[in-house]
Amino acid sequence: MQQLTRIRIVLVQTSHPGNIGAAARAMKNMGLASLYLVEPKDFPSGVALGRAASALDILDNAVVVDSLDAAIADCGLVIGTSARSRGIPWPMVDPQECAEKLVLAGRQNDVALVFGREDNGLSNEELRRCHFHVQIPANEEYSSLNVAAAVMVLCYEIRKAALQEQGEGAGEGTGVAGSPDTEQAFWDQPLATVAETEGFLAHLEEVLTQIEVLDPKAPRQLMTRLRRLYTRIRPDRMEINLLRGTLTATQAKLGKKGEPKA
Ligand code: SAH
Repeated sequence: MQQLTRIRIVLVQTSHPGNIGAAARAMKNMGLASLYLVEPKDFPSGVALGRAASALDILDNAVVVDSLDAAIADCGLVIGTSARSRGIPWPMVDPQECAEKLVLAGRQNDVALVFGREDNGLSNEELRRCHFHVQIPANEEYSSLNVAAAVMVLCYEIRKAALQEQGEGAGEGTGVAGSPDTEQAFWDQPLATVAETEGFLAHLEEVLTQIEVLDPKAPRQLMTRLRRLYTRIRPDRMEINLLRGTLTATQAKLGKKGEPKA
């Protein structure tokens, strides 16, 4: 299914190879194919193959990387899963909105849905790499699903969103009905990738330090809040280039020592 080709599933530090196999099977059942594994504990593994059943091609083509950044660097939209909300509040979506956003942004960009470790999920730092967090509204008394079960639930939502879009006639201007993201599906520029946004945020931090807005000894939540701002806006590639140009020009005016020119 063409709407699903640019959507990747990322599993971070999965301990049990059976969960990797079961996730691959769920993906194949729902028509997804791209699997990234960040530092899997035991892979390749016969146990994973056994649980994957007829989804062996997904395991064969799985991309193994050594950091979350490497798995999502080229993505324009990243959604992280969380069984509970943590740290400073982040934009949240429900499973249906999550699927609609991935399908729409997946028209023009590579996009990722990230799953955490069986024992303690995704770290706060990993969750801050994501544009949105999605939570499956499970039983409050026991809301933590097995990771492969969570992959199944969200891949099913993605399939439903893709089928709905197909039914409406992709490219005919309707998009996913009622989605606030519809306009973005017809944007003239691709979204900035994670790597481009990270490059901008590092540059911004450097300039804010130079002009002494940011005190590296007492950073407080400044960069986290600015990260949330720029992540929420989801700038396109040209906008990020304009922001980078502004920072470079600011530094040129500051001169070598970081002192404003007279
Ligand atoms: N104790 C961990 C739960 C890990 S469950 C924690 O509280 O973070 C393993 C993974 O399954 C999670 O990282 C997430 O990717 C997925 N998952 C489990 N339950 C979920 C839920 N209710 N909503 C979204 N993702 C969920």
